[in-house]
Amino acid sequence: MNHDDLRHWSKHAADWAHGYHRDLRLQPVRAPLVPGAISRQLPPGPPDQAEPMERIWEDFERIVPPGMTHWQHPRFFAYFPANAAPASMLAEQLANAMAAQGMIWQTSPAVTEVEQVMVQWLRQAIGLPEGFVGTIHDSATTATLSAVLTMREVALDYAGNTGGLSGAPRLRIYASAQTHSSVDKAVRVAGIGQDNLVKIRADDSLSMDPVALAAAIAGDIAAGFMPAGVVLCAGGTSVGAFDRIGDCIAAAHAHGLPVHVDAAWAGSAMICPEFRSLWAGIEAADSIVFNPHKWLGAQFDCAVQFLRDPAPQIRALGLRPSYLQTAGREEVVNFNEWTVPLGRRFRALKLWFVLRAYGLDGLRERIRNHVTWAGEVCEALRALPGVHIVTQPRLSLFTFALASDAETEALLNRINDDGRIYLTQTLHLGRYVIRVQVGQFDCTREDVMMIEEVVKDLM
Ligand SMILES: *Cc1c(COP(=O)(O)O)cnc(C)c1O
Repeated sequence: MNHDDLRHWSKHAADWAHGYHRDLRLQPVRAPLVPGAISRQLPPGPPDQAEPMERIWEDFERIVPPGMTHWQHPRFFAYFPANAAPASMLAEQLANAMAAQGMIWQTSPAVTEVEQVMVQWLRQAIGLPEGFVGTIHDSATTATLSAVLTMREVALDYAGNTGGLSGAPRLRIYASAQTHSSVDKAVRVAGIGQDNLVKIRADDSLSMDPVALAAAIAGDIAAGFMPAGVVLCAGGTSVGAFDRIGDCIAAAHAHGLPVHVDAAWAGSAMICPEFRSLWAGIEAADSIVFNPHKWLGAQFDCAVQFLRDPAPQIRALGLRPSYLQTAGREEVVNFNEWTVPLGRRFRALKLWFVLRAYGLDGLRERIRNHVTWAGEVCEALRALPGVHIVTQPRLSLFTFALASDAETEALLNRINDDGRIYLTQTLHLGRYVIRVQVGQFDCTREDVMMIEEVVKDLM
């Protein structure tokens, strides 16, 4: 296959993609398959002889789409959205065509400079003050790991990177029980250890209790530990919990501890000024991550980390071997020094396309609709006898259950085998509940209200 063939097949792929999206509503949202159903259809080894693209294409159409869970389906209400606006897909095609590796400024100045400008556009869009800079990671998990590695190195005065952690003071990181498992992973990978991630009690509103945070830090200092930082949650994965950001940051800063805020999902909603009270006090954070790849239409992967001061993170993560040095250009930003991987994709291009093709007004309207429709379908479910709304909508996420865990789980299985909608579960305060999140780029009110219809049919 050469570039002339690519031209032909790219057009074919564009037509295929158009039909795929046009007909998505007719497909079950979740692939109705058993494990092994796809791998059984592939030969056990690679071909020695080149195969014609016609045959590869036929196999693709026959094997792959039936094995997909359709994340862009307008009735995907599971997990979190990973929505992909058409303008994002177009930008990704262009990034793919150039296939650049943007590890340092010189390896593609446009990759670095469009990224710098997009971070500033997004900073303004979500209402953060001037002064924050940032970078784009693959995922929130990587951004949180970068923040925790920086906390570790700042606490150890950068001695961990060189001397290792054996013999170092025992570090402590604080988070609420509502934070995502990526925080647990970060403390494990950073060598701090799960036992040194202190989960602070939440109050009735599911916020970390700032008084309990202050007490835990003081107690740890008295016991000889070395507190290193606090991770707060703005829109938790399970039920959308928000820590009281301003109060918790004040408690952390009173002890000189840096604060990273995980707003992976909810951050997109902050383009609407009316939701910003949910994270009041955010401007005092040291680091914030949010995923435009969840709810803003810039498809996976695209996680933006904002930093009040990038210097500690660059000092913790940056390495400049001689083959990466750029003589006479010390003023340029080399984004690999801000993150864990060396190589970087051109992720900013899809942000540029999406922000321009829909405008902030268009993106705000979508998010406002999602929040409104989630509230409406929540009320419709509440009115069904036997359905209990367990957590009220936070932005566009709420949970419900039937009388017992067993009945709730059986209902969820029936819903997902049915295929018209896709929902997932969580454990909330020990109870098995079904989550509903509304956030698909192309969903309509009718799509959302079908949740009630399906639940009523299958109860
Ligand atoms: C989705 C999510 C994550 C994980 O995001 P990735 O980008 O997949 O790593 C972390 N925290 C919260 C609150 C999330 O919603």
